[in-house]
Amino acid sequence: MNVIAKHRNLSISGNRLWQSLMDMAKIGATEKGGVCRLALTDIDKEGRDLFIQWCKDAGCSIRIDKMGNIFARREGRNPDLKPIMTGSHLDSQPTGGRFDGVYGVLAGLEVVRALNDADYETEAPIEVAVWTNEEGSRFAPAMVSSGVFAKVFDLEYGLSRADSDGKTMGEELERIGYAGPDEPNIDGHPVGAYFEAHIEQGPILEDEEKTIGVVTDAQGQRWYEITLTGVEAHAGPTPMHLRKDALLGASRIVEAVNRIGMKNQPFACATVGMLENYPNSRNVIPGKVFLTVDFRHPDDEVLAKMDKELREAVDEITKGIGLEMDFEQIWYYAPIKFEDSCVQAVRDGVELGGYSNRDMVSGAGHDACYLSKVTPTGMIFIPCVDGISHNEVEDATPEWCEAGGQVLLQAMVTKADETVLSS
Ligand SMILES: [Zn+2]
Repeated sequence: MNVIAKHRNLSISGNRLWQSLMDMAKIGATEKGGVCRLALTDIDKEGRDLFIQWCKDAGCSIRIDKMGNIFARREGRNPDLKPIMTGSHLDSQPTGGRFDGVYGVLAGLEVVRALNDADYETEAPIEVAVWTNEEGSRFAPAMVSSGVFAKVFDLEYGLSRADSDGKTMGEELERIGYAGPDEPNIDGHPVGAYFEAHIEQGPILEDEEKTIGVVTDAQGQRWYEITLTGVEAHAGPTPMHLRKDALLGASRIVEAVNRIGMKNQPFACATVGMLENYPNSRNVIPGKVFLTVDFRHPDDEVLAKMDKELREAVDEITKGIGLEMDFEQIWYYAPIKFEDSCVQAVRDGVELGGYSNRDMVSGAGHDACYLSKVTPTGMIFIPCVDGISHNEVEDATPEWCEAGGQVLLQAMVTKADETVLSS
């Protein structure tokens, strides 16, 4: 009983967390106040080096695995217990912000520092992870290294991912000195539970004036690539009724995708984000269009229904215009339910801090989504200004950052000490 009372007094330093965020933001800082720290570049190496230095200063030991994932460890009282892990990513989008990913990493570091300040020994060890190439911006797909860790991908696949210049992750890890010796998966590195703190990357918390999002689920995703082929022809001599206009087909698909999204509310998101038109000449009827579709929903059944609706719509649209089509679902990612005891540990931390909060479904993918496949996992969201992320103006307040770090601290210690609490 006393154990509960003891750890409930622990507290992070919001100022120190904020200062670390601002210091890390100088690495790869852009003119517009954002960050460009693409995975496995020299800038990324600089960020990694700084993180490791800070962790060593905080007394942590460091391990690096074959995917370049970094683990900073603070020992616990019982060496037989698996570590309670937190983490996120240090890489960013080309025009990224100062909080996406790095917030979760540095909140984890702040948990370690706070435990040091209080001279608090947890039962299980605490670890802070940095997952390589979460963004998927330089190397596709996203979250590839937490995916290898969770055995969604094998090591060979991970290391062979190449950027647009043909440089592979394996080569670039060697080059910057982050091709570590450790086995890059849960078998070689058991984990007791995983928590990730992250900015929401959407507008809901700020809009409802809530400080913490207790993340219960993550949306499932289906990604598609569609190529429509019609006939290129002169825009003058070809009468309207004899055209096979691929861009007209694409336009109708854009409409259909939006309609399917609106029809499956609440929660559904449906986006055409990429569209390439050939030959893209003002007086040529487009003969070929490539487009992508991104569907998201937390309920697998609804996601499957949206898939069916898309296939029917695309079929009808292309037949109507006489287009040929190549339709491929290139990615399927099942919806995720975060583990009850981890969600509860987050809730308890929120309640203790007295923070306004709401339950949330994560709309974006996170390393935590893959970790949830191999260990009990929970997530904590804090708001970001205007819900804007993947943008140089991405912003958060010191108060929000502190609140999320405080909840993370409580949730991690709850899990790290639960063997004692339950005995
Ligand atoms: Zn992120």
